[in-house]
Amino acid sequence: MKIAKDHVVSIHYTLKDSSGKEMESSFGDDPLVYLQGHKNIIPGLEEALEQKEVGDKVNVVIEPDKAYGTRNEQLVQAVPKTEFPDADKIEVGTHFEMDSPGGPILLVVTEIMDDKVVLDGNHPMAGMTLSFEVEIMEIRKATDEEVAHRHVHGPGGHHH
Ligand code: ZN
Repeated sequence: MKIAKDHVVSIHYTLKDSSGKEMESSFGDDPLVYLQGHKNIIPGLEEALEQKEVGDKVNVVIEPDKAYGTRNEQLVQAVPKTEFPDADKIEVGTHFEMDSPGGPILLVVTEIMDDKVVLDGNHPMAGMTLSFEVEIMEIRKATDEEVAHRHVHGPGGHHH
């Protein structure tokens, strides 16, 4: 069986940045299970895995436009500390969810100044070129329900 749209795929992967620094790895842990053809994973990885088979190893370098997009500096803003009820508890790395016209966005604190907090709404991997080493572990046809929901059910997937 080959990886194609509406197939559930289990992979192990190691993700490195452009300097070769390891950022994530599933080896030694549970594999990543996703539904091909439904934007469950970044477009560049989905493209690289299309038509591959169980046991195949795939190494691919993905530019930002096929990964998490380029950075948008307009999503970085300095907000006065007085606008936060618990300003003392805020640390670099603290997350906030904010409503926007396009749906909720996640803001991460990237810097704390004397009277302001810098919030960044970019994805942490926006602007990065990513290098994946992937091993394909399992492929199966998705159920009708999984295709309708656009995600995987059962082990490694969503539960409803
Ligand atoms: Zn579901």
